[in-house]
Amino acid sequence: MRVVALIPAAGQGKRMGTERPKAFISLGALPILAHTLRKFEACPQVDEIIPLVPPGEGVAWTQEIVSQGGLQKVSKIMPGGAERQESVFIGLRAIREKAEAVIIHDGVRPFVTPDLIQRALSEARRFQAVAVALPASETIKEVARENMVLRTVDRRQLWMMQTPQSFDYKLILRAHEEARRDGFVGTDDASLVERLKIPVKIIEGSRFNFKITTPEDLVLAEALLKYL
Ligand code: C5P
Repeated sequence: MRVVALIPAAGQGKRMGTERPKAFISLGALPILAHTLRKFEACPQVDEIIPLVPPGEGVAWTQEIVSQGGLQKVSKIMPGGAERQESVFIGLRAIREKAEAVIIHDGVRPFVTPDLIQRALSEARRFQAVAVALPASETIKEVARENMVLRTVDRRQLWMMQTPQSFDYKLILRAHEEARRDGFVGTDDASLVERLKIPVKIIEGSRFNFKITTPEDLVLAEALLKYL
């Protein structure tokens, strides 16, 4: 099974409030994206890696990460789009016909492990769509205007989605094409497949595999880096 990893990392990171887009902020000695790319490089089941990065300087910054890390699986570096979904679609079109499976992972989740990537890919042999997620661990409430509680939702059936998410290549390409045609924007790739009534299998991820979004997340990430 030929596997291509798409790493959307083209977000500007407005919530982070930094000059550089967040995938290029330092975590320990390396940019966040460098940590993420290394995990995919280290996973034997991944054949090729394509990061989607901020147009402009992002390509050169990523080239530097690739050279410094000796990352041999990065086959091309592409400018992403205005939305995450568009960045992924650009990546999917770039690998047309070559891949059997695609694994999509946020560039700003640097604590993914080669083992988790491998688990997502091994399930992809049985299911056309596999997503890593965590069971909801806190009480969840639905609120109305002015944050007034409407009701408490039964959390036993609720999962918080993460990446990586792996797919049959032809299926995820079609799901993106149809979403685009219908003007549907989802917050993850699995939701585009769900629209086609294709089953999505969930596997349990790790709390360490969080998305670095805010300055607080960066503090947690620095602490975790020392611990791991
Ligand atoms: O926006 P959010 O924090 O959910 O972004 C998740 C991932 O999608 C990040 O790695 C981000 O860089 C990427 N992204 C992208 N293109 C965009 C917006 C976000 O590749 N236009």
